[in-house]
Amino acid sequence: MEKKSLVIIGSGPAAWTAGIYAARSELLPVIFEGFIKGGVAGGQLMTTTEIENFPGFPDGIQGPEFIQRCRKQTERFKATIISEDVEEIDLSKKPFEIKGTKTSILADSVIIATGANAKRLDIPGAKDGELWQKGVTSCAICDGAAPIFRDKELFVIGGGDTAMEEAIFLTKFGKKVYIVHRRDELRASKFLADKAKANPKIEILYSRVIIEIKGDNVVKEVVLQDVKTKKEEKREAGGVFFAIGHTPNTGFLKDKLELDKNGYIITKDKSTSTNIEGVFAAGDVQDAIYRQAVTAAGSGCMASLDAERWLVEKGLIG
Ligand code: NAP
Repeated sequence: MEKKSLVIIGSGPAAWTAGIYAARSELLPVIFEGFIKGGVAGGQLMTTTEIENFPGFPDGIQGPEFIQRCRKQTERFKATIISEDVEEIDLSKKPFEIKGTKTSILADSVIIATGANAKRLDIPGAKDGELWQKGVTSCAICDGAAPIFRDKELFVIGGGDTAMEEAIFLTKFGKKVYIVHRRDELRASKFLADKAKANPKIEILYSRVIIEIKGDNVVKEVVLQDVKTKKEEKREAGGVFFAIGHTPNTGFLKDKLELDKNGYIITKDKSTSTNIEGVFAAGDVQDAIYRQAVTAAGSGCMASLDAERWLVEKGLIG
């Protein structure tokens, strides 16, 4: 079996940035970019439309094009890209063993950058092919500034910090922002909850759920239901934003690496080091707070530098 200095798992901004840095440092990294059934690898940005907040793109860039460019930039240097999902990883021995669907590789170090997926609600109107990405999205920070949301009634679903933060952000664009929360008490920190409550453009609809999203090419209306009385109510709407949490892609790491209670990889202090020496984590898979393309890319760079320093320290590379 082939042995490499570094294997990177993932294909979002964290993985590609780690790949670019590692390849330019001549670590000859192997990148398992994954193979998503029926689609392409590339993480959450593959389902994002316009990215307007990544520096260097004054006119914005489409998510899939951005990822393709990152991939191409990595290919410019000496990196091997394998379009397979990692099915199993053995971190209990050194070198580590990474098993893809067809290819297995031994590696002295590993960077895990498998990302996280925003949770979606399976309600009528919100599915792919319906109004998903036509006014229904799971990232207000990424999509909220789009023209379709300007001066509209916007609905954020969730009662946590993300819902508060996204609702506050959306007040810059929408006419009115409703936070729809299934309970009569918010989960969010007091600071963010108070900030949202104090915003005159925000109204919190407690004990309410959205049971249907209607529209044609864009969102036009939501059907709300009171969870206690079951009473239904229709409201005009221009956008629906899911802010109900994320699921980190760490299923294949369970019992192998230290994860927090929500499944995120725990990294040490200000580094990308995990509890296993030689294993590093970057991007959304270890970040429940910032979750931006630019922060993921930054931590991908950190992971590559951390891995390189560790390999040198251990005498595994010259
Ligand atoms: P979260 O804290 O898990 O909150 C998710 C919210 O979505 C909860 O209010 C939950 O309702 C609701 N929800 C979950 N499933 C639902 C469903 N099926 N239908 C309707 N509602 C549903 O997630 P988060 O807000 O993304 O925050 C994740 C972590 O990041 C937290 O630790 C948070 O503090 C942190 N964060 C921090 C900041 C900041 O400090 N600036 C910003 C963003 C996030 P229930 O309350 O009823 O469970």
